[in-house]
Amino acid sequence: MIVIGITGGIGSGKSTVARIIYRLGARIIDADVVARKVVRKGSPALSEIVREFGTEVLNANGALNRRKLAGLVFGDNHKREKLNSITHKYISEEINNKINKMRANEKNEYVVLDVALPIKKGFLDLTDVVWTVISDIGNRIRRVMEKSDMTKEEIIERINSQPDDDEYIKIADTVIENNGTFEELEQRVARLFMQIKTG
Ligand code: ADP
Repeated sequence: MIVIGITGGIGSGKSTVARIIYRLGARIIDADVVARKVVRKGSPALSEIVREFGTEVLNANGALNRRKLAGLVFGDNHKREKLNSITHKYISEEINNKINKMRANEKNEYVVLDVALPIKKGFLDLTDVVWTVISDIGNRIRRVMEKSDMTKEEIIERINSQPDDDEYIKIADTVIENNGTFEELEQRVARLFMQIKTG
């Protein structure tokens, strides 16, 4: 089984690339979905978060209040790092479990791991190959505004809170530039996937 890691900042098009490969027959693991799952109500990760940040990050029903937590760590690097050190270990453990489960089924030949953070340890070291998706900031802002209800300011804030393109490019085996049409992206990805399939 070959695991393809796809990374890139918000709006670069990494989920679109992951979906294209999914349609070509690969399984998909979305690190965002895993990240939400590991902090579900009653989880060990959530207990650790509460120990660190207090019960004020919980809703009345005991579930995580994401907005509250985001507000607490916003602009405070120390707190953000503390939070990441808690969540990342649970996320990488869960991703690892998922990959191993998929490995057990020989029908799963290719797996795509969609992960926004260009972190090797625990995330992308689980992959056989890393593709980084980059696109111009104007395209990213426009595309995210079209697909979500985030404001331009919120998108810029998120882009600024993520690593620079250089960080993503540094860990890439292949860089996919996504400034053209969807069809152009699809063709590029299909060709790259074919190269992997044919070894
Ligand atoms: P990411 O996962 O990196 O945040 P997405 O893959 O969700 O980004 O892409 C953001 C939005 O831009 C989506 O609505 C997607 O359909 C659209 N998009 C991505 N690439 C292109 C492209 N080449 N042409 C047009 N729309 C695109």
